[in-house]
Amino acid sequence: MAEHGSIFRAMLQEFDDAARLLELDPGIWKILTQPKRQIIVSCPVQMDTGEIEVFTGYRVQYSITLGPAKGGIRYHPDVTLDEVTALAAWMTWKCAVAHIPFGGSKGGIICDPTRMSRRELEALTRRYIAEIIDAIGPEKDVPAPDVNTNDQVMAWVMDTYSMHVGHTETAVVTGKPIELGGSLGRREATGRGVMIVAREATKHLGLDISRATVAVQGFGNVGAVSADLTARTGAKVVGITDWKGGVYNAKGLDVAKMLAYTQEHKTVEGFPGGEPLTNEQLFTLEVDVLIPAALENQITVANAGAIRAKIVIEAANGPVTPDANNILQARGIFVVPDILANSGGVTVSYFEWVQDRYGYFWEESEVNARLEKKMHEAFHDVLQTSLRYNVDMRTAAYIVAISRVGTVTRLRGMYA
Ligand code: GLU
Repeated sequence: MAEHGSIFRAMLQEFDDAARLLELDPGIWKILTQPKRQIIVSCPVQMDTGEIEVFTGYRVQYSITLGPAKGGIRYHPDVTLDEVTALAAWMTWKCAVAHIPFGGSKGGIICDPTRMSRRELEALTRRYIAEIIDAIGPEKDVPAPDVNTNDQVMAWVMDTYSMHVGHTETAVVTGKPIELGGSLGRREATGRGVMIVAREATKHLGLDISRATVAVQGFGNVGAVSADLTARTGAKVVGITDWKGGVYNAKGLDVAKMLAYTQEHKTVEGFPGGEPLTNEQLFTLEVDVLIPAALENQITVANAGAIRAKIVIEAANGPVTPDANNILQARGIFVVPDILANSGGVTVSYFEWVQDRYGYFWEESEVNARLEKKMHEAFHDVLQTSLRYNVDMRTAAYIVAISRVGTVTRLRGMYA
């Protein structure tokens, strides 16, 4: 068995709690707790200085049991194989909870995109895709954006793959620009899904989203759209922090103005419509809904006891450590887990892949209506499971995911 580090172990801890309750067959248990395939590549790139740098890239295909592997690519200096493997496992459970016909995968490159030119990023992206080209494809593994990657990067992925196979293949990647086979509503989809589950969670607790107070950690694509759409329901977004700083306004921040401000300043720090706010302060705000929408391991045993939100919606992947999760549960905080809360992104990725394969594109209202239906179903499947088994929402989401992937694994049987 491969050696795994702490993030993968955290995933396994979550998995085991649910598998035990399900009395999962030990053989299926073994299969579902190992990555199917881990690829490590070296990507030489000529930098603008003329020097050659070699970047390490990973692609992990955790499962292809329900369909093609599916998952984003992140560019970050702290990327590790352990992290990418855990994220690929989470994609597997996320696609199963969202009830879409995909397995799970993830990719990552160890790099600091903030210090690279556009040309260097393009060269790195193309080389990475060329290195993993045999492993990806519309029927095999379909990448998408993740931390520090966007629609332009996906356009380069699509072009590189298409040049290799000799024809335009839009369905190899999702999160593309609209002009080349992207789906309307994909960019906003993760944040829209977060807003939908926040609305359902507040309703479940007898609150009303339009009167709720909200705090958001992270103002990248997911955090910004979650804050914007939640504010549009009437909710008061009182605090937002990002990689650099944060702002607080008890009367509610003007999120639309903050979006414009960050276009120019690349951070919310210094936004004139509020007072400065640190991350530690954000986590202790007395709000109805706290939305961690940045990276993993943000809520730990060190700060979980200080959280005063009634609801935590995990818009990021893995923002709460398992031990911190136990503290939040013991304190009666309603946590909507990542594999449910942020599944709006991959759900619209699925719609994009379907539209590309059909060559027929939907209006944005149709995409949003289908997303609404999927998120509503996923939330209530998990909620019903949590009530039936008398467990928290995270364990319930794993129960739903493991039952679905486990059933198909059993039905397909062992090859050879
Ligand atoms: N990176 C996103 C996630 O973590 C989206 C993945 C996708 O659309 O395939 O869910």
